[in-house]
Amino acid sequence: MAKIVLVLYPDPVSGFPPEYARDTIPEVSAYPGGATLPTPKDFGFTPGELLGSVSGALGLKEWLESEGHTVVVTSDKEGPDSVFERELPDADIVISQPFWPAYLTPERIEKAENLRLVVTAGIGSDHTDLNAANARGITVAEVTYSNSISVAEHTVMQVLVLVRDFVKQHRIAAEGGWNIADAVERSYDLEGMRVGVFAAGRIGRAVIERLAPFGVQLSYTDRFRLPAEYEEQYDLTYYESIEDLVTEVDVLTVHAPLTAQTQGLLDDELLATMPRGSYIVNPARGAIADRDAVVRALESGQLAGYAGDVWDPQPAPVDHPWRSMPNNAMTTHTSGTSLSGQARYAAGTREILEDWFAGNPIRPEYLIVEGGSYAGTGAHSYAEQS
Ligand code: NAD
Repeated sequence: MAKIVLVLYPDPVSGFPPEYARDTIPEVSAYPGGATLPTPKDFGFTPGELLGSVSGALGLKEWLESEGHTVVVTSDKEGPDSVFERELPDADIVISQPFWPAYLTPERIEKAENLRLVVTAGIGSDHTDLNAANARGITVAEVTYSNSISVAEHTVMQVLVLVRDFVKQHRIAAEGGWNIADAVERSYDLEGMRVGVFAAGRIGRAVIERLAPFGVQLSYTDRFRLPAEYEEQYDLTYYESIEDLVTEVDVLTVHAPLTAQTQGLLDDELLATMPRGSYIVNPARGAIADRDAVVRALESGQLAGYAGDVWDPQPAPVDHPWRSMPNNAMTTHTSGTSLSGQARYAAGTREILEDWFAGNPIRPEYLIVEGGSYAGTGAHSYAEQS
């Protein structure tokens, strides 16, 4: 029997929802490209429920306990006295979501002598030190594709929010004002703008496909060039490097994983090469951007706006400068944890656990590292960058 520690974000301050805004969520039959949705034997929840917080427990608690496992669910994750740190030494499996990451540093991994499996309920496993996991032969898996479209939708929303300057316009309406000139002095159409996509993986491509109908000029860079037919279909220009890409864009969207190569990439030097008045939307990872360089670029007007929903660390401190920097449209890390996304990654987490306990292989697309090396999606998206 295993001990499983789930680190999840706290319940709503008003209590667990007694009812929801909608009665159902639409059924999605397949992901783009034909990949199937999670296929657990059972769900343990009703799709559309809040699953990512402690009381939701990803719909896993009852099932795991009925199988005889020990389950700890907590949101208390920082510092040596936290529940997470106390429960870690004899945990076999750790599950957390990137929105409220259970940081598995090399020191914590060393302490966790029984740890064999780390599941990211969602996408993006940088909160686990992958080198340390490899050294110990720990399997790290995530629920690939589960919330890619959720994030792509949030990205498109934030591009429009920045370019049209929605936040200020809404504030004027809510506060009883009607000064149209105030409301539009920074408002533009997206149509005709050059949009550059940094990393055209599942999310990056979904952003390209959703933005194409806006009549923008699309370009991208990625470690792997996309097929020629795809580039033709979306009239995409490919650049060899992010340095080449950013000089030719009005809007940059960021969808690369956080690795040693991407950490701190959006720094003073790179931002200075963008056309004045560019916008950045980064729903990938906060640490891909240099925190203070972004603030400086907004204050000087080099950037016209910055949005995204990822911070470093998470939760971000109350005085994090991105909360108050000019012309930001930041959200807390919510894009991938809509109620719709939660249903998919909770089901995928259950599928991974069912396979693990049955001794069946985990789907290759869910794997990041396994048996001491990068595997599956990890081999494509993370390898050779640590
Ligand atoms: P993916 O694995 O499908 O795509 C990642 C792409 O990045 C791949 O095409 C890969 O070739 C490219 N890449 C990797 N390193 C690169 C580099 N150094 N330079 C250029 N390209 C590089 O992943 P995805 O599903 O599209 O997700 C991307 C990232 O988005 C995740 O790693 C995660 O950090 C983040 N994410 C955020 C949320 C959220 O809620 N905000 C949710 C899901 C994922």
